[in-house]
Amino acid sequence: MAFEGLADRLQSTIKKITGKGKVSEQDVKEMTREVRLALLEADVNFKVVKDLITRIKERAIGQEVMESLTPGQQVIKVVKEELTTLMGGEQSKIAVADRSPTVIMMVGLQGAGKTTTSGKLANLLRKKHNRAPLLAACDIYRPAAIKQLEILGEQLEMPVFSMGTEAKPVDIASKAVEKAKEDHNDYVIIDTAGRLHVDTNLMEELQQIKTAVKPDEIFLVVDAMTGQDAVNVAESFNEQLDITGVVLTKLDGDTRGGAALSIKAVTGKPIKFAGMGEKLDELEAFHPERMASRILG
Ligand code: GDP
Repeated sequence: MAFEGLADRLQSTIKKITGKGKVSEQDVKEMTREVRLALLEADVNFKVVKDLITRIKERAIGQEVMESLTPGQQVIKVVKEELTTLMGGEQSKIAVADRSPTVIMMVGLQGAGKTTTSGKLANLLRKKHNRAPLLAACDIYRPAAIKQLEILGEQLEMPVFSMGTEAKPVDIASKAVEKAKEDHNDYVIIDTAGRLHVDTNLMEELQQIKTAVKPDEIFLVVDAMTGQDAVNVAESFNEQLDITGVVLTKLDGDTRGGAALSIKAVTGKPIKFAGMGEKLDELEAFHPERMASRILG
């Protein structure tokens, strides 16, 4: 399960001071050093760790903790609050267009989980929010990708717009939005192509789609298992496309969790959803506070 290493380590660190009636400045320093190591081991971005530890230390050495009757509990509270803030504080909701349809563009590297997440998101929008999404197949380079989306559409009994592999992705996206208007679909989820690495041609294509359909959301899908790489990928997609949010996939796997803790701080963009498995109902809204609680056990 995700965060296991980090959770174990933070818990044992915290246990050391929870029993104490009074904590000294030295205790706090030792604890923050342990927290720092645990975060670095979990592959959290170096600079993010440094800033976080500075904030935790400032608050933990402050009156709030030192003069409390339960200083250990207070320290945990501080760490939890800071982890929550780091991951974006509040849960971040999907933007809704003033005029239907709301257009969501899914972007990301190959294998990150874009196509699967497009299906999951459509499913969630229908189930939880009673919406009628249209899926659009814009990955023309991998014929199997169109087929994959069509199969998802069949499973979900949801419409999929495709124009095969000959049309241009930007035209497919534009036509999909028109089709959604005609058919009264209130969301369009555009599944775009991925590459193994960030690549100029791909970025140009994505920018063209962005200009043409003016999406309300651009969700970057990243694989939590790739740790620090996921953060680098998020940084470059954000620079080039000004993404609006991140979907972190494969959080059910054995990830060390660093990506979840770094992405918001590094890109300024919130994690909006978390992929918790391969099945179509395994997508959850990302709650920073719940995630922080999970990490702290
Ligand atoms: P794409 O190339 O970005 O479109 O990636 P796909 O949607 O084809 O997904 C790649 C693989 O990751 C597939 O085998 C998916 O089933 C798997 N996958 C996607 N999201 C998750 C997730 O949240 N958890 C797990 N365990 N697997 C996932």
